Amino acid sequence: MTADIFSSFDRDHLWHPYTSMTDPLPTFKVDRASGCEIILADGTRLVDGMSSWWCAIHGYSHPVLDKAAADQLKKMSHVMFGGLTHEPAIELGRLLLGIAPPSMTKIFYADSGSVAVEVAMKMAVQYQFSTGNPEKSNFVTIRSGYHGDTWNAMSVCDPVTGMHSLFGSALPVRYFVPSPASRFGGEWNPEDIRPLQDVIEKHHGELGAMILEPIVQGAGGMWFYHPEYLRQAARLCREHDILLIFDEIATGFGRTGKLFAWEHAGVEPDIMCIGKALTGGYMTFSAVLASDKVAYGISDNPPHAFMHGPTFMGNPLACAVARASVTLLLESGWQEKVKEIESGLKTGLAPAASLPSVADVRVLGAIGVIEMKKPVDMAYMQRRFVEEGVWVRPFGRLVYVMPPYIVSGEQLDKLMKALVKVASESDR
Ligand code: PMP
Repeated sequence: MTADIFSSFDRDHLWHPYTSMTDPLPTFKVDRASGCEIILADGTRLVDGMSSWWCAIHGYSHPVLDKAAADQLKKMSHVMFGGLTHEPAIELGRLLLGIAPPSMTKIFYADSGSVAVEVAMKMAVQYQFSTGNPEKSNFVTIRSGYHGDTWNAMSVCDPVTGMHSLFGSALPVRYFVPSPASRFGGEWNPEDIRPLQDVIEKHHGELGAMILEPIVQGAGGMWFYHPEYLRQAARLCREHDILLIFDEIATGFGRTGKLFAWEHAGVEPDIMCIGKALTGGYMTFSAVLASDKVAYGISDNPPHAFMHGPTFMGNPLACAVARASVTLLLESGWQEKVKEIESGLKTGLAPAASLPSVADVRVLGAIGVIEMKKPVDMAYMQRRFVEEGVWVRPFGRLVYVMPPYIVSGEQLDKLMKALVKVASESDR
């Protein structure tokens, strides 16, 4: 590693996610990224294991997405969505409704995952208000969830691993139940639903919606749970007029082996958030999908409008790239590719399961997780991964990968070898 990949200006002036300004974690300077590789300023080539936090499903600098962005730039980068509309928004909408759960018929374009969660939660509250249940304004969720860093999103993140210790006194208080212990692919334990049933039976009068990540809890613990939980939760919500919000921001667009994770359970939500891979990782963009029931519940009653409208709503550039990305995905034979990655992850990570420092190894779709017994030294481990020629960013006790779907067998092999090697060094 040469000095070129560290910048003192960056260290002294630029805030990076979740790090200190006095003693920041190191950052590596990237010159460019192409295919499944990130190329550092000193020429070091890293095989990407992160898809830039679930986004870059087609890899980087994809010619089809580059062209979609360039073509759209020639027409317009942005126009306001208030009173105006455009082809990219309309065509993307058509595409999305064709692949979303059938219950989803309306689309609200938003700026980022966290904003989509804010919008979804506001939608639920306004729906309950408008349909004569203003007291149903609170939320229930499962522990170990992650929904973003803005205010309401934070309020439904796991209260222990999230940021409640810092911001808890300023956050709205939500109802939390344990996340289901029954694993995906394992036996269903009917006891798993009991805590949710108790909370809903006791507090349904104040509960407007349940929000959760279907099947895969991402940044809150990388946990894969049993689809029966979603079926039972949906039944309880319906019985008590509680809307069901699925946060598919991380799970969407094929990552779990289905186009969207709800398909594992066959349970349709009332509101669904998508983001991240929506633009293939090109730019920030998200969408909140809603059912007729939610949309008409809000619109048929005063003030006859959903009260949200961000400046960059429906940004044409983002819509054009998203349309190209979703089309590319649907035409790419992604199911086969994700299956191949899944089997590569299972074989490649298997040796880690017997390491003394490893608590669990799990794989679902194109997601592979090594759960360590103790929190990892992130700065040390990240540096070791770079030395091994791969880009992997662990957090807490989790060392995990979700590579771009275009990863080659050789690149996946390199990633797996690096993961097992670096994880095994914790045993020394
Ligand atoms: N929900 C889930 C499930 C996520 O994984 C994330 C991002 N990690 C978010 C919401 C927030 O998205 P963003 O970072 O784009 O605001």
